[in-house]
Amino acid sequence: MPTPTKTITFDNTEIAFAHRSDQDLSHSILLFRLMSWPVLVKIGTRLTPWMVKKGLPISTLLRNTIFRQFVGGETLAETRKVSDNLHAFGVDVILDYGVEGKEGEANFDQARDEFIRVIRYAASCPNIPFISIKVTGMARFALLEKIQEGMKSNRTNFQKGYLASLNLLTQDEQQEWERVCARLNAIASTGAKEGVGVLIDAEESWIQDPIDAIALLLMQQYNRERVTVFNTYQLYRHDRLSFLFDNFKFCQRGDFLLGAKLVRGAYMEKERARAQKMGYESPIQPDKRASDWDYDAALAFCVEHLDQIFVMVASHNEQSSLYAVSLLRELKQALDHPHIHWSQLYGMSDNITFNLAKAGCSVSKYLPFGPLTDVIPYLMRRAQENTSVRGQTGRELRLLLQERARR
Ligand SMILES: Cc1cc2nc3c(=O)[nH]c(=O)nc-3n(C[C@H](O)[C@H](O)[C@H](O)COP(=O)(O)OP(=O)(O)OC[C@H]3O[C@@H](n4cnc5c(N)ncnc54)[C@H](O)[C@@H]3O)c2cc1C
Repeated sequence: MPTPTKTITFDNTEIAFAHRSDQDLSHSILLFRLMSWPVLVKIGTRLTPWMVKKGLPISTLLRNTIFRQFVGGETLAETRKVSDNLHAFGVDVILDYGVEGKEGEANFDQARDEFIRVIRYAASCPNIPFISIKVTGMARFALLEKIQEGMKSNRTNFQKGYLASLNLLTQDEQQEWERVCARLNAIASTGAKEGVGVLIDAEESWIQDPIDAIALLLMQQYNRERVTVFNTYQLYRHDRLSFLFDNFKFCQRGDFLLGAKLVRGAYMEKERARAQKMGYESPIQPDKRASDWDYDAALAFCVEHLDQIFVMVASHNEQSSLYAVSLLRELKQALDHPHIHWSQLYGMSDNITFNLAKAGCSVSKYLPFGPLTDVIPYLMRRAQENTSVRGQTGRELRLLLQERARR
């Protein structure tokens, strides 16, 4: 069991990297050095998906570099080694079956079955309390877009707008959407039965409304006594703080618990570019400070309502991660309160994860897995994030170098 310590800092690299061999460290150092070259990442993220699609022989290179850093394995069984290693250091795992961008009913059903298999597997492991899902893995993107368009007609009442928009679908589309809901329902019900939480990822703003609507309905059904279903709130959007407040009121009225995963958001450039191209107001905050401000405000709100909200602090931001700790202390709540959990992506910010775990916080790594070709979009986002987010690569590299020198 981790020993609670009084002051938490994130600069102890001995704790941060105790789970990694010397060879692992050298590998990460090389990779983060490469990713600190924006031109290389720009070319790499354009060429890699194309090369993989064309069947060019780059699999071994990818497997031994970026895949090894950010992914748990190609199969569920392969993730075991990673999750056992994390467990030895008091860190949990959120399993993320990382297949993206596959459309068609057969693929959607297959994804549902895989998520259910992942939940059952998680329930059999000591340190996998959650799994994450993407609705676009089980629904046609264009259908989500169409439902969202319909929801625009009723902006005053979110749930009514959702129901009204379903009436605008053709009969075939209505049936198609019912199948999507049935898939999500099957996953949430298995999660509830097996005691494994289901985190619904947030995606692009132009398909997010139906995802939010179905997430709320699932929470209403499955979050009665304990929290099984979590929705994700992207605080880089300027409308999300008030949306979180509205959702909370909806949960209170319906007498169920809110599961809230707080993130800043992963699609900033894409969101801004689309808004500019199509001539509508960007949904993204004007600057980073505004995103940070809303993130921390959302965090404070959730921690103040831990009796009714289970909050997941999904961030690599050191200040926000520590702010959650200071809020708990201020409110005289235990660091291992059952309604708060921190999480970072596997391969990033080990200094936050392992120092929080050592202090007695409930913390996990978000661990994607899946065939190499299927996790390419995820890998490309990680590469971009580690160059576009100024400072992230520098920080990782500095800590890794510091630890190698210490050893
Ligand atoms: C466990 C986990 C789960 C996640 N799940 C999701 C998910 O479901 N959906 C999703 O979209 N993302 C998800 N993310 C990614 C997340 O949204 C962020 O992209 C990433 O974590 C970086 O933000 P940060 O809080 O860690 O740190 P920071 O480095 O403090 O923040 C970087 C973020 O700030 C925002 N930002 C940067 N510059 C500006 C600017 N000029 N103006 C406005 N905002 C700016 C962007 O969102 C950027 O990614 C997840 C992350 C984690 C750790």
